[in-house]
Amino acid sequence: ADLYGINSWGSGYFGVSENGDVVITPFAENGPAVSIPDVIKGLQDRGMDLPVLLRVENILDAQITVLHDCFRAAIREFGYQGEFRGVFPIKVNQQEQVVEKIAQYGQRHHHGLEVGSKAELIAALSYLNDHEACIVCNGYKDAEFVDLALYGTKMGYKCILVLEMPSELPLILARSKVLGVRPLIGVRIKLSSRAGGHWTESGGDLSIFGLSTAEVVDALDLLRKEDMLDCMRLLHFHLGSQIPNIRDIREALREACRVYAGLVDEGAAMGYLDLGGGLAVDYDGSHTNFLSSRNYTLSEYCADIVETVMSILDEREIAHPHIITESGRATVAYYSVLLFNILDASRLEDRALPVDLPEDCPEPTENLLEVYNSISLKNLQECYNDAIYYRDEIRQMFRLGNCTLRERGVAETIFWAIIKEIAQRVDEVKRPTVELAGIQDSLASIYYANMSVFQSLPDSWAIDHLFPVMPVHRLKEQPTEKVVLADITCDCDGKLDRFIDPRGVKRTLDLHELKNGDPYYLGAFLVGAYQETLGDLHNLFGDTNVASIHINEDGSFDFVRELDGDSVADVLSYVEYDPKMVLERFRNVAEQGVREGRISPQDRYSIMKAFENGLRGYTYLNGLR
Ligand code: PLP
Repeated sequence: ADLYGINSWGSGYFGVSENGDVVITPFAENGPAVSIPDVIKGLQDRGMDLPVLLRVENILDAQITVLHDCFRAAIREFGYQGEFRGVFPIKVNQQEQVVEKIAQYGQRHHHGLEVGSKAELIAALSYLNDHEACIVCNGYKDAEFVDLALYGTKMGYKCILVLEMPSELPLILARSKVLGVRPLIGVRIKLSSRAGGHWTESGGDLSIFGLSTAEVVDALDLLRKEDMLDCMRLLHFHLGSQIPNIRDIREALREACRVYAGLVDEGAAMGYLDLGGGLAVDYDGSHTNFLSSRNYTLSEYCADIVETVMSILDEREIAHPHIITESGRATVAYYSVLLFNILDASRLEDRALPVDLPEDCPEPTENLLEVYNSISLKNLQECYNDAIYYRDEIRQMFRLGNCTLRERGVAETIFWAIIKEIAQRVDEVKRPTVELAGIQDSLASIYYANMSVFQSLPDSWAIDHLFPVMPVHRLKEQPTEKVVLADITCDCDGKLDRFIDPRGVKRTLDLHELKNGDPYYLGAFLVGAYQETLGDLHNLFGDTNVASIHINEDGSFDFVRELDGDSVADVLSYVEYDPKMVLERFRNVAEQGVREGRISPQDRYSIMKAFENGLRGYTYLNGLR
């Protein structure tokens, strides 16, 4: 059985081998499979500690290719006259290695880049060496931004300046006159259509981005006056990210096509229709319109887009534009996996129940024991209610000083024994109440994960986003533990207690028992989009180590790039400490200790060594499991 749903969300890139390891399978079926535990061993042999963000280059290559293949297939099938020109929005993963690889793998498809700031434009200009590919410049612009884009156009790039605000057009016109460049202009529109989903505030009339219809008309009038309608080349809209329902995409596109036709009617040259991002990732593998999923395949997405544009523009006898999508999430999500180890576990121990209670024991304790002895399938709910009631009574007595610490301990032991007994029988109850249904979760063990949710999975903390998380080995063994994962930040939000489930969300993850000090490795999958730069330094846990592998057709793999994660000195410097000063200050404190006789000079030597090693070291834990 596919307990973790890997065959549903893995998109063919991940699977389980016969010996129970998670494997990476980047080529078509029957291609080689690389075991993730082998990759971990290779990393550790090279001295790279977990947590590690593993990037699989082949997956990125495959995702770009499949996007283009699917659009090409739809274009061929429908006899569409334009071409597909994908662009990758740099904001989705700005890391240099990622942008470099996208530019490299994208070149054969003329895959371009979308930028939303000067910094992103500078990265795009230096990494995209393809004059057929587009650089779509969204975001608010000042003269410097506009100049950079215009210079790009002068150098032969298809640098399209998309108006986000009406005031940008006079600026673009003025700067293009000064620099002597005919600009390529686009316009972002506010659609009235909206989609359901987490990130869909960017659509709709009240969207903070884009021009209203009246503002678009003003822009056209200005261009006409300047005799520059030929510079208006692109219509852009962005409905939001992770759009689970294809119907929303189709509806918005219909509206956009009407706007496109209107722009052509007004005499704008046009030629490009840019649908923005939104192509969703099926994080939970449910193939539904849940927020973590999508109710369409990539082929359906492409076919729907091509067919919709064609049907509306053919009706108006308007030439088919090149279609641009700014798919970020779908391009890079699969490409990175966060690998981490479990440091330790804490579970509710089975404690022996007292045979006899002392005569003077508090009454609620006696009642709890009675409840325990009366549990049967027929009275589970009643026992549950009573147990909670008496447990609360004991707590109240304790607060008032009417029972001792030891007495409270005994009462709680009995309370948990009751809860465990109920949990063992609850599966037999036909229609359990919400409380009973959640009782097994309340007994979950806590596994301590060597990572920071805030640094590596920020969306999981910030917006309850779900990522598939599972062990990467021991998958032939039946897991026996229901687990909540706690990270190593000292923050009660630093945990994972919502996991993918084909029927919604589950509160615990089934994991294996930790065995006599053996390492236990988990992976958080599909984390290549948005997580890296949104991550923060909570508790000063820094960037993790990063390793990129390339899998060869014979099944071997190469470690092609490694990036050391932040050291303690690095993260301290991010928050304005000067590591040299930190060392200096501590040395003075240590020397004072010597002067005052608290430590010997040899102690000072050992202490300073430990301190310096600490400064140089990784911010995560090592050497435990
Ligand atoms: N384009 C624009 C303008 C965006 O704001 C975004 C992100 O929300 C994207 C593209 C990327 O969207 P996605 O990651 O859903 O493909």
